[in-house]
Amino acid sequence: RAKEMGKNRCVRFEPSMNQAVVRRQAIEHALRAELEQQGGGLALHYQPLFSARGQALVGAEALLRWTHAELGPVSPLEAVSVAEDCGLIVPLGYWVLRTACRDAARWTAPGPLRVAVNISARQLGDPQFLERVMDILREEGLPAHLLEIELTETVLMENMEAGAHTLHRLSQLGIHLAIDDFGTGYSSLAYLRQLPMRRLKIDRSFVRDLPEQEHSRTIVTAIVALAHGLGLQVTAEGVETPQQADYLVQQGCDVLQGYVFARPMPVAQFLALQAGTTA
Ligand code: C2E
Ligand code: MG
Ligand code: MG
Ligand code: MG
Repeated sequence: RAKEMGKNRCVRFEPSMNQAVVRRQAIEHALRAELEQQGGGLALHYQPLFSARGQALVGAEALLRWTHAELGPVSPLEAVSVAEDCGLIVPLGYWVLRTACRDAARWTAPGPLRVAVNISARQLGDPQFLERVMDILREEGLPAHLLEIELTETVLMENMEAGAHTLHRLSQLGIHLAIDDFGTGYSSLAYLRQLPMRRLKIDRSFVRDLPEQEHSRTIVTAIVALAHGLGLQVTAEGVETPQQADYLVQQGCDVLQGYVFARPMPVAQFLALQAGTTA
């Protein structure tokens, strides 16, 4: 455990610091305490993923949830941002990965389901990442092909050289790699040729104004064509209406994710859903 806790600490509190900095300090302290207690108030919720054709349950994305006694609920974007800045993302990321793999190893009735886990820049940059992922899969008993790692374009660009080797090894092990929030980060498409990606996830911002807005329709059509042309699958995220779902199915999206189908939920509820929808 100690090794996972990281050594860098943020600067100490000073009265001159503004409110935002004070909040980040409070989050850092609280997060450090949670991780020292093996998770404590941290939790993962799972958002179901459905095949576009047939709308069968095909897996879930693990999403961090954290409610702290004094701070109240802290959004995953804020928690991850603070954790990235002070080095706690490494132990937090391993907690997320281990918990997701442990939970997914139980999604066996009736058939196995894949779990998708978000990975941030500094996690991928950790020289031990590959080894740790392999250890976690083995220790939690999850076959590699049931793990999908989601990386944003920004994460890829920040780790292009050091990360490429790790990503090729992960892929060789059978782990699936996905680009998250596709179309919102750096616009270089070089990594699509160079990296062993399996999936593009169309960002919610392009789904929101479907099917009415022409520009969104054009972008979605182009992303699906690009992905399929490269042999990748496409997931649409943030699907909130039946009209959006219909349009995305028509366009050939492979997997749909969004509130119109299901919100992120605790693992017990996800297990009940799996038993109900696929039994
Ligand atoms: P993401 O990876 O793009 O995850 C999808 C986000 O969209 C989730 O927000 C999900 O709750 C939300 N969402 C899904 N369907 C809909 C919908 O139909 N409508 C709307 N309005 N929203 C929808 P959430 O859980 O707040 O997470 C936000 C982001 O925080 C994630 O975006 C991801 O970038 C990051 N994050 C979450 N958990 C982790 C984690 O364990 N590790 C890392 N590194 N990042 C995480
Ligand atoms: Mg994601
Ligand atoms: Mg996303
Ligand atoms: Mg997104």
